[in-house]
Amino acid sequence: GSVIGILGGGQLGRMLSVAASRLGFRTHIYEPMENPPAAHVADRLTTASYDDTEALRAFAASVDVITYEFENIPTAALDLLEAARPIRPNRRALAISQDRISEKDFLTGLGLTTAPYSAVNGMDELQAALSRIGAPAILKTTRLGYDGKGQARLRGPEDAEAALAAMAGAPAVLEGFVTFSHEVSVIAARGLDGSVACFDPGENVHRDGILHSTTIPARLSPAQRSDAVLLAARILNALDYVGVMGVELFVTRQGLLVNEIAPRVHNSGHWTQNGCAIDQFEQHIRAVAGWPLGDGSRHSDVVMENLIGDDILRVPEIARERNAALHLYGKSEARPGRKMGHVNRVQVPAAGK
Ligand code: ATP
Ligand code: MG
Ligand code: MG
Repeated sequence: GSVIGILGGGQLGRMLSVAASRLGFRTHIYEPMENPPAAHVADRLTTASYDDTEALRAFAASVDVITYEFENIPTAALDLLEAARPIRPNRRALAISQDRISEKDFLTGLGLTTAPYSAVNGMDELQAALSRIGAPAILKTTRLGYDGKGQARLRGPEDAEAALAAMAGAPAVLEGFVTFSHEVSVIAARGLDGSVACFDPGENVHRDGILHSTTIPARLSPAQRSDAVLLAARILNALDYVGVMGVELFVTRQGLLVNEIAPRVHNSGHWTQNGCAIDQFEQHIRAVAGWPLGDGSRHSDVVMENLIGDDILRVPEIARERNAALHLYGKSEARPGRKMGHVNRVQVPAAGK
């Protein structure tokens, strides 16, 4: 059987591993941190940093194809790995999504709409960007941000200094604050043969910059739903993408705006584990292994709730609920803001109806 190499051993790597072993693959995880969530489900684990060229070479030699659960893999490590084995999704998708500015340049280049944005390095550029874009606005580091980290909101020019200080000298991008009615995401997949399959868009609620829940189906008109799916397909095709991608969208009166894309399985796609015959993790493994994609259609409505920090204390009570599928990541320490697990509440129609 083939071996799938996964860069990153967090919960996404863990759930990818489970899906891969269900399809008869073996998995080898590469993760710098000790005892990561994927440790006990992967067939093999390498604990080493991304500058360890020996470990990277041995990892590549032991696998048939390489995928990843996070987008911030250092370039030098990728160069080394790519010389030995295919990396799916490809390097271009990674490079574009590692930097918020290159991502927005790419999206607008495809004719898609994003929030107005401007690169910001220092106070002069922030002032210029603010006068062009206006307030309110959000300043974000261009790289390495997730769960709303590395972001500062500006109500007006008076917040410029504090916002810039929050970037700690890192390159940033100013985005106009989008007035949206709600947020949705499309989890889309593209196979090695170029076929595309999208899951139904989900509606996302964030709390403190962190995804709190995803509800399927999202409130979207049929036209909005097809817009969402078509624009996702356009992004994947333009990148000659192979794998699953998360596309986050703002629903506005002017139509759908793209917030950001993630070249990997996505937290807002976790509902597929209990709403679809083929979930996003299996879909991703199918794609990177060169299998045909599953069709991704939904058999049930689902509400996914993230269990963050102390939410984990509610597990005994959730375990007593009917039709609540728990997915726990095996993390021992429940720090505030840390994703500990999620629950998929499957909306089962009442009997006899
Ligand atoms: P993720 O964990 O999804 O990768 P992130 O740190 O990359 O998060 P974003 O997705 O950029 O952060 O922003 C987090 C949330 O903040 C968004 O889902 C949205 O609710 C809000 N937000 C971000 N940018 C804007 C914007 N330009 N206008 C309005 N709201 C925004
Ligand atoms: Mg992000
Ligand atoms: Mg986001």
